[in-house]
Amino acid sequence: VDLAAVDSRNTPGFAGSGKSEGRAQTAKVGKRLAKRQEQLYAQGRAGGDQAVLLVLQGMDTSGKGGTVKHVTGLVNPMGVRYHAFGPPTAQERSHHFLWRIRRHLPGPGAIGVFDRSHYEDVLVARVHELVPPEVWQRRYDEINRFEADLHPSIRLVKCFLHISPDEQRARLAARLDKPSKYWKYDPKDLDERAHWLEYQQAYADALRRCHTDTAPWYVVPADRKWYRDWAISHLLLEQLDELGLGWPAPDGWDPAHERRRLAADEPRPVR
Ligand code: AMP
Ligand code: MG
Repeated sequence: VDLAAVDSRNTPGFAGSGKSEGRAQTAKVGKRLAKRQEQLYAQGRAGGDQAVLLVLQGMDTSGKGGTVKHVTGLVNPMGVRYHAFGPPTAQERSHHFLWRIRRHLPGPGAIGVFDRSHYEDVLVARVHELVPPEVWQRRYDEINRFEADLHPSIRLVKCFLHISPDEQRARLAARLDKPSKYWKYDPKDLDERAHWLEYQQAYADALRRCHTDTAPWYVVPADRKWYRDWAISHLLLEQLDELGLGWPAPDGWDPAHERRRLAADEPRPVR
């Protein structure tokens, strides 16, 4: 994995003419996504055990929140389980690093969204030496075993939102320009930015070592927000389509019989 060789302004797979066509296509995909999600949710209610988990990773300002808004926002929030992972609490630190991850996995019928994830434990933990090298080194295999165990009940879609340092500078500047964006800014973002190359190396290793058949990584060029949304909405739809979902059959009742009952129904007089 050579991230420097991937152009973050690129739009692989997109055949249209640009932003407005990209946004229009994403809206169309959204309709199909919404139907599939409703089927997934309905199947979950009917005892099905399938779920999908979208894992979003990327540098600060890479668009994790924007993806949640524009892609997850295309489907019914009832069926979405979103969680953002920040620095672990004291309680979380007292457990294995996967403990807090397991607690937020999507249940049957849900689409889980992880805004950061267990991968932070081989990213920030490595770059800032929060644990000794031998500890983060063995985490790649632990992650692979963990993700293999989730399969096939939980389908993973792991996306690395790939932006350039210049794009990050522009987005940080935008956050500093507008009071309506201050809430997204954290002075620590600039300290993290100073470690850009170490993070790219850590990301490259995580993508390489944890890219498996059942839980592949996708590098999503993310300098163009419309393309990021286009790509991730398509990846999600692809996974949902592969589940072969349909509408659940009635459980223990007959629609024809219920229709007759309804037709004969009269409000009972008050006694
Ligand atoms: P944000 O996504 O902007 O809300 O920032 C969340 C912060 O939590 C980032 O600086 C992450 O690096 C940090 N973080 C997330 N997971 C971990 C972890 N396992 N260990 C240490 N820091 C973490
Ligand atoms: Mg932030």
